[in-house]
Amino acid sequence: MGVAVPPEYTPVMEALRQMHGVTMLERRSSPYDVLIATILSQRTRDETTERVFRDVKARWPDVTSLAAADEDEVDAVIHSIGFHRQKARAIIATAKQLEERHDGQVPSSMDELLELPMVGRKTANCVLVYGFAEPAIPVDTHVHRISNRLGWVETRTPEATERVLVELLPREHWLEINQLMVSHGKTVCQPQRPRCGQCGVAPYCARAGVAE
Ligand code: SF4
Repeated sequence: MGVAVPPEYTPVMEALRQMHGVTMLERRSSPYDVLIATILSQRTRDETTERVFRDVKARWPDVTSLAAADEDEVDAVIHSIGFHRQKARAIIATAKQLEERHDGQVPSSMDELLELPMVGRKTANCVLVYGFAEPAIPVDTHVHRISNRLGWVETRTPEATERVLVELLPREHWLEINQLMVSHGKTVCQPQRPRCGQCGVAPYCARAGVAE
């Protein structure tokens, strides 16, 4: 009977690092900024999120001013992003909740983060990783797709992918995996046409579900 060979996490992460670099620590933001930006980013392109987030920060620079903001005004400022009405309501409610329950600070526990409006596991994990540098695995569409293609997981949903990855992936890789796979998913391992011929990860990849 053969012995199962564990997936080659470290060479894959090293190959991803070589292709895309490691910039997370350079780009580290405050937990509050990560939280608000990630709520705004849901189902929205990065460039649009960045612009809209800058506008929100310029008009309401901190938690106190955002908690007191008028919903119609916030909605007008973020109008170019999807679900702007829900997001306007959510970021104001989030700021209020931070003021009322957490002394204006963002909590650093998953359970407390999940109590905030429009905060699911992916957003909470982003706050932990990018705001607090706490090991966690934010699984978005890129992490979900690439983990499946690599053969690391065999899952249908990002939530299931996260559950498997936290069991399997050595903790030393948790802080980097989201950023590296997002970069990889945007430039090389794209949804429709993965560029396997130009991919440094190819020697370790099962290419599950990828057409020949
Ligand atoms: S070899 Fe192809 S499927 Fe595998 S990670 Fe690279 S681009 Fe994606």
